[in-house]
Amino acid sequence: MDNRRTFLKKSGLLLTALSLPIPNILFAGGKKKLGVALVGLGGYSTHQLAPALQQTEYCELRGIVTGSPEKIPRWQEKYNIPDANVYNYENMHEIAKNDNINVIYIVLPNSMHAKYSIIAANAGKHVWCEKPMAMNAKECREMIAACEKNKVKLAIGYRLQHEKNNRIMMKWAETNPYGSIQNLTAKAGFFSSNPGWRTEADMGGGAMYDMGVYPLNTSRYSTGREPIAVSAKSSTSRPELFSEVDETMEFTLEFPDGITAHCRTSFGENMNNLEISCRDGSYYLQPFQSYSGVKGGTSDGKILPPMGKNQQAVQMDDDALAILNDRPMIAPGEDGLKDIIVLEKIYESAAAGGKRLEIQPL
Ligand code: NAD
Repeated sequence: MDNRRTFLKKSGLLLTALSLPIPNILFAGGKKKLGVALVGLGGYSTHQLAPALQQTEYCELRGIVTGSPEKIPRWQEKYNIPDANVYNYENMHEIAKNDNINVIYIVLPNSMHAKYSIIAANAGKHVWCEKPMAMNAKECREMIAACEKNKVKLAIGYRLQHEKNNRIMMKWAETNPYGSIQNLTAKAGFFSSNPGWRTEADMGGGAMYDMGVYPLNTSRYSTGREPIAVSAKSSTSRPELFSEVDETMEFTLEFPDGITAHCRTSFGENMNNLEISCRDGSYYLQPFQSYSGVKGGTSDGKILPPMGKNQQAVQMDDDALAILNDRPMIAPGEDGLKDIIVLEKIYESAAAGGKRLEIQPL
C-alpha cells in the first residue's frame, strides 16, 4: 500500500473506532476503564499526563513507577494510588502479576525508552512510550518485536496526531483542497535556560530528539508521504551548555512529487508554526504544536479554531479505545521507527557538514 493510502487509512480508523460501541470489558475492580501506570514522575507526567488522566473516559491512572521514593506519598494521596500499585525500576517487571494495570506509559529520558518499554511488554502490558521513540532504529525494532512477541500494543506519545487541526492537515494531504502540495515549513522550538539531561548525549539529549521530532513527524503526515532524502545542519549559540548535543538543527526533507519540507528546531529560539503552500493556495497552523490553542487558517480566509479539549486526554482515550476494540494505534511503533530512521540520517548529514543523503524506505 502506498504512503498516502496508509495515512488515509490511519485517519479513517480513528473515526471508525470512535463510532463503535465499547465492548463490555470488565477489569479487576469492576471498572470498564483501562488502568494506566506512569513510569517516570518528572515534568510531563506531573503537569500534563496525570492531570489529563483525570479527564479520560476509557483509562485512568492506577499505578506509578518511580526511582524517587520521596515523590510517592504525594502521588498516592493526590491520585488515590494503593501501595500495591507503586513500583520502582528494579521491581517494575512484577506489574505482570497486577491485573489492575493494563497499560504502562514510559515517560523517562529518551535513552531509557527502549529498555523500560521492553520490560513493560515482557510484563504482558500494553505499552505507551513518549516521543522520541528511542535512540536509534535498532532500539525501535527491538521494542516492536517485544510487543509483537508478547501480543501487546505499542503507541508512541505523538499527541499532535490526536489533535483536531493537525488531523485536518493529514486529511488535506489526501484531499488537496488547495491543489497539490508544493512545499512546507515546520518549526518547533523554545528557549530553555535549564535543559538538564537534554544537554547530555548519553541521555538522548539534543533539540532534534526533543522538539525536532515534531517538524519531522508533521512533515510526514501533512504531506502523506515518506521523505526520500535529507540534508541538515546543527549549530549552537551557547557552546558552554550545548557541548555534547545540538542546540539548533535545521533540516530539509525531500519528498516524492517534488515536495520539500524546510524544518527547524531549537532549545534557543521560540518558534511554533506550520505553513503549507499548494498550487492554488496555502494554509497554516500557529501555534501548531502547543499543548492547547492549536489554531490556523487558510489563504481563502477559513479559520481553524482550537480543539477545546485536553490533547493528552484525547490521545490516551484514542489509544485506550484502540486496545479495547483491538484496532491499530493511531501512532504505532512503526510510525516512531520511521521518524528515527530519518532522524539518524539528519544527524549523519549534520556531521558531514550538510551533505544530502538519500533515505531508504522502510
Ligand atoms: P523530566 O526531566 O521532567 O522527567 C524525567 C523523569 O525521569 C524524572 O522523574 C526523573 O527522576 C526520571 N529519571 C529516571 N532516571 C533518570 C536519569 N538517569 N536521569 C534523569 N532523569 C531520570 O523530563 P520530562 O519533560 O518529563 O520528559 C520525559 C519524557 O517525556 C521525554 O521522553 C520527553 O521527550 C517526553 N515529553 C513529551 C512531551 C509531549 O508533549 N509529548 C512533553 C514533554 C516531555
